Amino acid sequence: MKKINEITKGKAKSMFTTDNEDNLIMHFSDDTSAFDGKKKEALLGKGAVNNQFNAFIMDHLEKNGIETHLIEAINSTESLVYKLDMFPIECVIRNRASGSICRRLGTQDGLVLEQPLFEFFLKDDELGDPLINDEHIISFGWANEEQIKEMKKQTYKVNEILSELFIMSGLILVDFKVEYGVYKEKILLADEFTPDGCRLWDSKTLKKMDKDRFRQGLGDVVESYHQVADRLGMNIET
Ligand code: C5P
Repeated sequence: MKKINEITKGKAKSMFTTDNEDNLIMHFSDDTSAFDGKKKEALLGKGAVNNQFNAFIMDHLEKNGIETHLIEAINSTESLVYKLDMFPIECVIRNRASGSICRRLGTQDGLVLEQPLFEFFLKDDELGDPLINDEHIISFGWANEEQIKEMKKQTYKVNEILSELFIMSGLILVDFKVEYGVYKEKILLADEFTPDGCRLWDSKTLKKMDKDRFRQGLGDVVESYHQVADRLGMNIET
């Protein structure tokens, strides 16, 4: 597998073409950003832990019936994935209120929701990733009704599978964001599932073990990601 050109450089990941036109290499960097890119820092070793964390989670999801874009991790910071046509939207599920929903609705941090709450956001940093609904998605042609139904169904299933996995390791899955794309007419789970894109709290102490440590300047960001990986039984190569 030959790495050829960098085609996108995101805030924490870059995508490269390969000598196979159906595949891309996803490189996880140490760069960390929050507040739509306004707070930035390189955190040594974050790329390696996130790449391997993501591969572990995607593999677990595949084993439980979710089809993903991951082919395999190829080294400590890079994975081979299928090249998809991405939907320009983010799917979020919240089990407890935290983050933007608390600001939006004046809710207390950590409030346990009566049932998991699904939300769509438009992927647009300049607009601050606004909250959108199914009607926006259809009217603007970002996805069709069937695709919306499928993304919701898969995201609820991801929530069930991962809430169970994390709770067995003493962690509460507070919320998470996932993205989807189309590969050969099939909707696949894409992007990443790492502590950069979810909230994980220790189930006894409610200590934050995810990217909120960076957002809120709590320190020990990469150390916490490693602690989560250890609890799940991952063997992270640094
Ligand atoms: O910011 P907010 O509370 O809406 O985020 C909900 C969840 O989605 C959090 O776990 C956050 O880390 C994740 N998220 C993300 N990327 C974004 C927005 C949110 O990973 N652009």
